[in-house]
Amino acid sequence: MKKVIVIGAGASGLMAAYAAAARGNDVLVLERNEKAGKKIYITGKGRCNVTNDLPAEDFFQNVVHNAKFLRSCIYAFPPERTMRFLEEGGLPLKVERGGRVFPASDKASDVTKCLERYCRNAGVTFAFSEQVKKIELLQSTMFGIITDKRRVEADAVIVCTGGISYPATGSTGDGYVFARGFGLRVGKLRPALCGIVCDGCEPLQGLSLKNVRLSAQCGGRKVGSLFGEMLFTHFGVSGPIVLSLSSLLNDCDLSSVLLSLDLKPALDEETLDRRLLREFDAAKNKQVGHVLETLLPKRMIRPVLAQVAVAETLPVHSVSKVQRAALLRALKDFRLTPRALRPVEEAIVTAGGIDVKEIDPKTMQCKKVPGLYFCGELLDVDAFTGGFNLQIAFATGFAAGNAV
Ligand SMILES: Cc1cc2nc3c(=O)[nH]c(=O)nc-3n(C[C@H](O)[C@H](O)[C@H](O)COP(=O)(O)OP(=O)(O)OC[C@H]3O[C@@H](n4cnc5c(N)ncnc54)[C@H](O)[C@@H]3O)c2cc1C
Repeated sequence: MKKVIVIGAGASGLMAAYAAAARGNDVLVLERNEKAGKKIYITGKGRCNVTNDLPAEDFFQNVVHNAKFLRSCIYAFPPERTMRFLEEGGLPLKVERGGRVFPASDKASDVTKCLERYCRNAGVTFAFSEQVKKIELLQSTMFGIITDKRRVEADAVIVCTGGISYPATGSTGDGYVFARGFGLRVGKLRPALCGIVCDGCEPLQGLSLKNVRLSAQCGGRKVGSLFGEMLFTHFGVSGPIVLSLSSLLNDCDLSSVLLSLDLKPALDEETLDRRLLREFDAAKNKQVGHVLETLLPKRMIRPVLAQVAVAETLPVHSVSKVQRAALLRALKDFRLTPRALRPVEEAIVTAGGIDVKEIDPKTMQCKKVPGLYFCGELLDVDAFTGGFNLQIAFATGFAAGNAV
């Protein structure tokens, strides 16, 4: 029996602690907060999208960075296993649109309760309100863990302290400091799944668009093109497709990013032009701004016309061929001016982190320091929304706990 210390009682820490205890180890979880799972509590708008009901193979298409590194642990602990694990632990689940899995109760706190119950039944001990300050290597595989209250020793340490997003939940980046202390490379931390700051969006604040396509180019290279919903906010844009696109843009210099919004993705240019002609023919004496109401949300009309320098009040019969062509372009290629991503503290996930080359992908053990493991968001892995990030936390946590 080994003495195992797990640092952090978030998604990956609870899973790691359970798996290590289920293997007969003596497990102590040290958590700086007064309770477990503070971040889990706010996931999925309080409903916790625990995983995604996709076959493991499709899972990797939703991983943005280092999908290859995750292959072993996701195949060993795939989404279906997470689902079975939670249901057998007394948490009924339901699958919603896009394979998103939620607790049937719609309560994120039930997920933490289920994980904590597993841990306690397996004999895990918890120490809350105790922050780990330092990890020391005593002998080749013996560690000293210094907290703000005491010093403890362990045969193995599993670090599950999360990224630096939403620091009020307890994840303030301590694990990166521990990793650097052991000479591990830590890649630049960047926001992922966050809003994009854009100029000139204030008049559109609060407007949400459905069934649009948002595309990004960085220095002339196509970065991504996503179809779905988005929202204008006080700072720029947010909403599902913006969040996903931000994860693809966090390696780019935003000043060289071109953001283009296709407001009518279902219609190719030719069909849309025919439609415009039809609408214009049917209302020759009406103002162009008025006629566009059949095609666009009202608040979108002024910015679209401004982009092509056509007055809203211009009668349709006075719209020239050139102006109509420009209008068509603006509907298919409405330009946004991105300035920056929102700060990482506001991002749903932290991209970057511990270089996965430092970590054994089967066990999450640090290659340089046997007995030391890193899991979850701390690693340089991140995925789109849909339950993929929690699945990564569970699978990496399970791999470490099981291996220890
Ligand atoms: C608003 C929001 C919504 C989200 N919704 C979803 C969703 O629906 N589905 C999904 O898949 N993902 C979601 N995510 C992402 C997901 O929550 C994280 O990727 C996941 O929780 C990471 O798990 P973790 O175990 O690595 O870290 P965390 O869950 O952040 O846990 C880290 C724990 O370590 C503790 N800790 C830190 N430092 C120390 C220390 N020095 N000593 C002791 N304890 C320490 C912290 O207090 C914390 O409890 C969401 C994230 C946010 C912010």
